[in-house]
Amino acid sequence: MHKEDQPLIFELSTEGRIGYSLPEMDIPEIDLGELLPEGYLREEEPELPEVSELDIMRHYTALSKRNHGVDSGFYPLGSCTMKYNPKINENVARFNGFAHLHPLQDESSVQGALELMYDLQEHLIEITGMDEVTLQPAAGAHGEWTGLMMIRSYHEANGDTKRTKVVVPDSAHGTNPASATVAGFETVTVKSDENGLVDLEDLRRVVGEDTAALMLTNPNTLGLFEENILEMAEIVHSAGGKLYYDGANLNAVLSKARPGDMGFDVVHLNLHKTFTGPHGGGGPGSGPVGVKSDLIPYLPKPVLVKNGDQYEFDYDRPQSIGRVKPYYGNFGINVRAYTYIRTMGPDGLKAVTENAVLNANYMMRRLEPFFDLPFDRHCKHEFVLSGKRQKKLGVRTLDIAKRLLDFGYHPPTIYFPLNVEECIMIEPTETESKETLDAFVDAMIQIAKEAEENPEIVQEAPHTTVIGRLDETMAARKPVLRYQKQ
Ligand SMILES: *Cc1c(COP(=O)(O)O)cnc(C)c1O
Repeated sequence: MHKEDQPLIFELSTEGRIGYSLPEMDIPEIDLGELLPEGYLREEEPELPEVSELDIMRHYTALSKRNHGVDSGFYPLGSCTMKYNPKINENVARFNGFAHLHPLQDESSVQGALELMYDLQEHLIEITGMDEVTLQPAAGAHGEWTGLMMIRSYHEANGDTKRTKVVVPDSAHGTNPASATVAGFETVTVKSDENGLVDLEDLRRVVGEDTAALMLTNPNTLGLFEENILEMAEIVHSAGGKLYYDGANLNAVLSKARPGDMGFDVVHLNLHKTFTGPHGGGGPGSGPVGVKSDLIPYLPKPVLVKNGDQYEFDYDRPQSIGRVKPYYGNFGINVRAYTYIRTMGPDGLKAVTENAVLNANYMMRRLEPFFDLPFDRHCKHEFVLSGKRQKKLGVRTLDIAKRLLDFGYHPPTIYFPLNVEECIMIEPTETESKETLDAFVDAMIQIAKEAEENPEIVQEAPHTTVIGRLDETMAARKPVLRYQKQ
């Protein structure tokens, strides 16, 4: 399995070799036995490799090169918006006045940071068409949960306690039903029609006086814009439910359409997708939530307010759902998103959407002759193909994804959404050049030809990576995180 020349650091160990130098001890040595209870003291020295500084440097550098990231290659992972993270964002986030703040500092000493947060909220209010925004939630899913908790409090405050159900289309992002469940609701699924859009008949059937909200991912995970939004809003609102907009992938509509204008009551955004915060590897993220005026009392507290020319946190919010995050959210990601919005400007943000949509449609049309296209419609920021044709030749979508690794690409999202057989979901984002898109399409076309002419090469891929095929279930359930002697 291990195909690399570079020996592992544990195998390089030479007794007595050291990779550090410490100054001479000038304080009394501590007797650990006095500080720690016996059970916590180890009896034997740890088996650490004994290597030079250069060896350890090469070890970590080699490990870092095994990672694939946006800075190292194309990353068309659908519904993830793996776009370029401009480095000016990093510079600004590292300004001393931002990076070295302490969250317990007095408000009067952090007015600049609060102004940035307030301005960011104002921009997001303008971008989404909502009335107020909170920056507290730490991720998209966290924003969903926050929004649903506010909807819950709203219904409860109106004595409307029978509303226990959240309606979620089968083309929604997977976090939507999960958040609804965590927020204490029961999820009701509504089907997609033959065009890949929410089936209005089915929606009418499931919406009723027990409906707390409809959560809509738009564009949905098929990359399609829900064309009947106003009708859906009417159906849900006239039944007394609220409308939740999953705006994680706003680069499909940014500066073109606003959830607030479509009738939505709550929307969350992913600053770590649309607004170029780096992501992957578990964070940090930021999932601000915008609400319409009747939900403002339920916003997480404290709420950042402007009082004259002073910025303050308002804790006096008796109907608030409470805090959803220690302190005030992931401030560093706010700085990055703010820098991005200000450097792009309104015209730049419009161009983002136009290019994201153009790129996806361009790739979809170039790939269409070689793969099945389940929904032959104009797509938004992403599109789905089906590997049905290749499956008949014995090549599964998983094999295609693995083969892409040999070409140096991160594979697209696969087997999601569930309503497309052998699904391949591709999101190019707006930051890639035509040359990069073409090179990826060429690789996909070559794989399609290999599936016909030489399926083994695809079935046995990857051939060039350090590790071949993992038992992915075991790797997730029982990860081996320590070096083990062979
Ligand atoms: C990524 C994504 C989410 C979840 O966001 P996290 O920050 O990963 O929790 C929700 N909805 C959509 C449409 C997404 O693309």
